[in-house]
Amino acid sequence: MSLLVVGSVAFDSVETPFGKVEETIGGSATFFSTAASYFVPINLVAVVGEDFPEDQIDFLKSRSVDCTGLHRVPGKTFRWRGRYGFDLNEAITLDTQLNVFGDFHPDLPQSYRECTRVFLANIDPELQLEVLKQVKDPQFVAADTMNFWIDGKRQELGRLLSHVDMLIINETEARKLASEANIVAAARAIMSMGPRHVIIKRGEYGALAFTPEDVFFAPAYPLEAVFDPTGAGDTFAGGLLGYLCRRNKVSTINLRQATVVGCVMASFCVEQFSLDALRSLSNEAIEARFSKFQKLVSFEPLELLEAISVQ
Ligand code: AMP
Repeated sequence: MSLLVVGSVAFDSVETPFGKVEETIGGSATFFSTAASYFVPINLVAVVGEDFPEDQIDFLKSRSVDCTGLHRVPGKTFRWRGRYGFDLNEAITLDTQLNVFGDFHPDLPQSYRECTRVFLANIDPELQLEVLKQVKDPQFVAADTMNFWIDGKRQELGRLLSHVDMLIINETEARKLASEANIVAAARAIMSMGPRHVIIKRGEYGALAFTPEDVFFAPAYPLEAVFDPTGAGDTFAGGLLGYLCRRNKVSTINLRQATVVGCVMASFCVEQFSLDALRSLSNEAIEARFSKFQKLVSFEPLELLEAISVQ
């Protein structure tokens, strides 16, 4: 069964200390769909303008992303401009142009309405809710958001959160949404807004998964060269939810594995600009990096305490 996603499909212009790209392919739904497509088929809802290249849509289709719900309308595609300093954890948004997203009210294709698993990628919370309302019987709904919407549409976001099972959000944004400095307290506060599961993305420091039954930490992969962190958060969400949907059950074990799969996919994403590193990964490469994560955090049980207490 497919996973339905709504979010931005965009042109990104990004500066990092290592280089600069103008109007490359980006968007929360683009990164998410590409990453998740390694695990499950995707039904994509978004809008692009006349300027969006057809070959990029063909690429998504080639990765089992159903693009029936990707509308092309007169006007310009969504554009985002951002900059990263040496601290690659935090993007500074320089410009956001909603363009064709400003007035987008999709009517979902019939087949999309039957999807039971939904990811509301980062976009206007009113649009996230509008899409969710058209889904007949949503069984598992996950969402992401960012400062832009927390600042601009807090009430709408609050309404949305009461329908969400899992929020996947950056550390800084979690603090802002919850008005809490402590990240554990912030996760608890967000849980009280609706989502049973709160996943906090911590950039190069990995991710924390909070559920009523469990707290889990996954590190980020210690890469020597991080080229462009844009899209890492959406790619993380794509890996996590793609894997979870493939397992077909949100158990503690599956969610722990899925959080690591999210970190695996994000670790590929940041190695190149835009979507480039995610275009043709092999299953073997994904599995090999997953094993490296296992090795990275495995250690033996403590044995010395008795000896210390005798002294
Ligand atoms: P991240 O995965 O957090 O690095 O997200 C990066 C992507 O988010 C970029 O490709 C942008 O096009 C997209 N983006 C940035 N701002 C917004 C926004 N306000 N709404 C939706 N998407 C956005």
